[in-house]
Order: sequence, then structure tokens, then C-alpha cells
Amino acid sequence: MSEQNDIYTDLWSPQALKIRPCSRLFSLKPIGIGTSVTESLSSYLCRLADEHCVSLQKLVTQEISSLIIDHQHEQNSTSRSISSIFGNSDAKPAINGMRDMTRSLVDALEQLTFRQDLHYLSCLTYQGVIKDRNLFRHYKAWCPQCFQQQKQEKQIVYEPLLWSFKDVNYCLHHNCQLSDRCPHCDSQQRAIANNSCLGFCDRCKQWLGNNLNDEVEIVEKERQIITGIGELIATAPVLNSPPTLPELIQKLKLIQFSFERSLRQDLTQFIALGKVLEQLKIAITQHQDKPLNLVNLLIPVCNLVNISVAQFFKEDISGVSKILNVNFNNQIQKTSKTSSLASMFNLRA
Ligand SMILES: [Zn+2]
Ligand SMILES: [Zn+2]
Repeated sequence: MSEQNDIYTDLWSPQALKIRPCSRLFSLKPIGIGTSVTESLSSYLCRLADEHCVSLQKLVTQEISSLIIDHQHEQNSTSRSISSIFGNSDAKPAINGMRDMTRSLVDALEQLTFRQDLHYLSCLTYQGVIKDRNLFRHYKAWCPQCFQQQKQEKQIVYEPLLWSFKDVNYCLHHNCQLSDRCPHCDSQQRAIANNSCLGFCDRCKQWLGNNLNDEVEIVEKERQIITGIGELIATAPVLNSPPTLPELIQKLKLIQFSFERSLRQDLTQFIALGKVLEQLKIAITQHQDKPLNLVNLLIPVCNLVNISVAQFFKEDISGVSKILNVNFNNQIQKTSKTSSLASMFNLRA
């Protein structure tokens, strides 16, 4: 009898069965994390609404708004439009950036989907270290050929975070200019609208893609900026911890030292380095507690010393120092052969 009881005890454990809790919304996998074409937060939100077969307005007002709006304003959140919930400015591509509202939206979505990687769809990793003023577009821009290719190859239609940046005006994949107005009705597109549908115009509902082969010559400076921003996006998930301003200032001081070492070798470099060196000095001394300008300072400075934006953020101080030394010595060897120091740095600017 006692043996039989043991069997029943084993089979019918008195402990409650552990069932993993289900997420309120689908745990939809974001596209391209760890690459330069990481999906944007607003694109993810659109796809999430689509997966649930509801409009973006319904998803935001009925599931998300109560988590991002303070309780005083909560009562009427279900009847509000998206632009009033996010505020006019946050319904723009800047929602993919580093604002407090972006943080609230990411927290709400991570809570609802049980995902922990959604902050990589924004620039929150760089909050406080990169200046966000004038960094993001007011309205969407897109590559019509990327949309068309996604559709033709039956891939998921989505918008990369890269397109939210004001200084990204070209698609390096198709060598074409990004569009920012619907080719059918000429309207501009908000990042988050009540009835957003990826690849289609919010207003006339027509397809925004095309396969017109309108290749253009992309100047090197534009290419460097787009590549630099792409590296910044791709690097966020591989950083051991979010970058801090004092650490970045230390790395910039090393670069300043490297510039000055180059000038001691060849004073003629002063004309090319002078302006950047001046900006660098100001950032390091007078503005060392202020976020750094990505497009006018970090990317050109990294290019001048042949260090990638990814290396600048990923490597620690000693790693950056080693790369700078190797680059400097390589250039010395090269220039001693050609008896010219013109290529001491990558002076294409
Ligand atoms: Zn493209
Ligand atoms: Zn249109």
C-alpha cells in the first residue's frame, strides 16, 4: 500500500505546475539587429500591429498608451489619436532616436512582448553621449528600390533605423537618393501615423517602391557619414556596457595627441587638420560634459585617423591607443618611401 502511495506521489506531485507566462503581444523578432540595416522602432511597431491584424492606432491606444502615459491623463487614452499620445514631435522619425518618450515606448513594448532587445531599434544606447539635436528627420525618408526589392523577393517589408537620420540621403546598396515624398500625392510621411502601413503612403495608400534605376555618384564625404552611422547602429548590441562621456573624451584625447604627433612630422598638415583639431580641442576642453556631435566631429575625426566608428566605440582606451600607433607607424613607413607626408592621415575631406 505504501509502495503504491509513493508511485502516486511521484506521478501527482502536490506542487503547482509551472507554466511559463505568455506575453501579452507576439514576441515578434526584430529584423537585422547587429547590422547597419537594423529595423527602426517605428517599423517594428507597425509590423507588430500588422501581425495582430489591428491598426497602429488601435495597438497604441488600447495596449501601449496606458503604459507610457502618466496616470493623470490615462482615462481618455483609448480615444486619443497617435499624434496626441506621442506628441506631434515624437510621431516623427525622432521617436527612433534617444528621447525619453522613446525609452517609455521601448520599455512598454519589451514588457508586452517579453523581448529584451528592442532598445537596439532606437539610439537609446548613445543617449547622453551623442548630441541628438538635428540628428533625426522630421518626416520619413526611404529607398524606393529597397522597398521594391523586399516585395519582389517576398521578404518582410520594413524600414531600417538608418533612414531616420537626417544626414543619410542615399542608399549605399542601390547607389540612389532616398525619397521623402510620395510619388503619387507628394505628401510627407510621419514615422507613426494612425493608419501607417510599411511601404505604402499614409495618405493615398499607394505603393512607395519602384525599381527605376536612378544611380547617382555619391561623394566620399556622404559615403563616410552613412557608413559611420551604419556602424554606430550595428555596434550597439556588441558593446559590453553603454558608452560614457568621460571614456569617449579620453579616446578623443588620444586622437588629439595623434594629430599633434603628425603635425610635428609635417607642419603642412596644419591646413587640413586645423579645423578638425580646433573642434576636437573645444569638445575635449570646453564642452567635455556635453554630448558629442556625431556627423561634424566623431565621424570625420575617426576617418582622419583611419579608425572605424565601430572600433572607436567597441575598443577600450588601450585598444584605441594600439590602433592609432599601428596606423601612425604604417603611415610613417609609407610616407618615408614616397618622401611625402601628404597621406599621413586619410585627408580626403
Ligand atoms: Zn536601397
Ligand atoms: Zn501618397
